Amino acid sequence: MSRNIYFTPGPSELYFTVEDHIKQALKEQFPSQSHRGNSFKKCFQSTVENLRELLNVPSNYHILFTSSATEIWERIIQNCVERQSVHLVNGAFSQRFYQTSVDLGKDAEKIACAEGSCASWKDIDPEHANELIAFTHNETSTGAAQPIEDIYAAREKFPDALIAVDVVSSIPYVNLDLDRVDTIYFSVQKSFGLPAGLGVWLVNDRCMEKANALQQKGLKLGTYHSLPSLVKQAGSYQTPETPNMLGIYLLDKVSRDMLQKGLDQIRKETEYKSTLLYYTIEEHASFKPFVKNSKFRSQTVVVAETEIDSQEVVNQLSSKGLIVGKGYGKFKEQHIRIANFATHSKEQIEMLVDQLNRIG
Ligand SMILES: *Cc1c(COP(=O)(O)O)cnc(C)c1O
Repeated sequence: MSRNIYFTPGPSELYFTVEDHIKQALKEQFPSQSHRGNSFKKCFQSTVENLRELLNVPSNYHILFTSSATEIWERIIQNCVERQSVHLVNGAFSQRFYQTSVDLGKDAEKIACAEGSCASWKDIDPEHANELIAFTHNETSTGAAQPIEDIYAAREKFPDALIAVDVVSSIPYVNLDLDRVDTIYFSVQKSFGLPAGLGVWLVNDRCMEKANALQQKGLKLGTYHSLPSLVKQAGSYQTPETPNMLGIYLLDKVSRDMLQKGLDQIRKETEYKSTLLYYTIEEHASFKPFVKNSKFRSQTVVVAETEIDSQEVVNQLSSKGLIVGKGYGKFKEQHIRIANFATHSKEQIEMLVDQLNRIG
């Protein structure tokens, strides 16, 4: 069977070194060893050190592991919000974080905008913005990316609120100054190119102080994955539960590979490839970019409106071994979504563009 290349926006093509790292992990019998033992602790420490270097993480941040980004939505609300949260909502994922807050009984405010665009922090009601403001940097369902200047502007305007940023489908491309936000998070099966089943949560001391204050007021922060419990265990390179050890092992290795390649190089290539993709769909007779305003266009998830049924486009490409995503939710038939992640090489994107140009 010939190999496909997955341009789906998650799960996606694995980072090109993952296969070798999995083989090595099995050879070392890493998954059979105790998660309280030295080899796991070393791996945890190395992963955290690599991520600190790769993502330029300030020293007042903790790096924690969960099962998914969906879990982190719940943890952020439980640990950092007493009454109110504000959510900029422009698609399915930002909506789900908002809904998590509603489901946990909070007074959540939604700042909504049309899909394919980004909501403005200027519409935030200052009365509501005392605790937490949630941004989704890259709305994977529509291909809209929030300009990071908007995130910094919200920080300036609402200095008391914690700023949370979902970077699930834009890390490590996104170049965010972590001193100007309070928590970022991602799951690894999208732009990081790893198998699913691991969430990575970066929180600063302000989040910890908030969690401690809530606890002192008698609020329940959750059980094994409360913020204090995660931070306490991370202090000795451990997790409260038996974690996704293989996932953490692979994150260690792949973040090292990305460091060796260099983030500047990854960013440059990402922009070259996204320029090529947007040019292709703009010039194409049957496609056009869904995100009209180029300042909101994602560099890592390119979404095209298609006049041909998306299934037909997907089928034509998959007959060549190129797997792209259909539209998300209500856009299923009208959109195709193309991941432009760190693992996708220039040559692979050029090959995809060639085939896109034959459709129509
Ligand atoms: C996929 C996705 C999530 C949820 O990730 P899970 O790993 O399924 O929990 C959250 N936010 C964004 C932007 C996503 O694309």
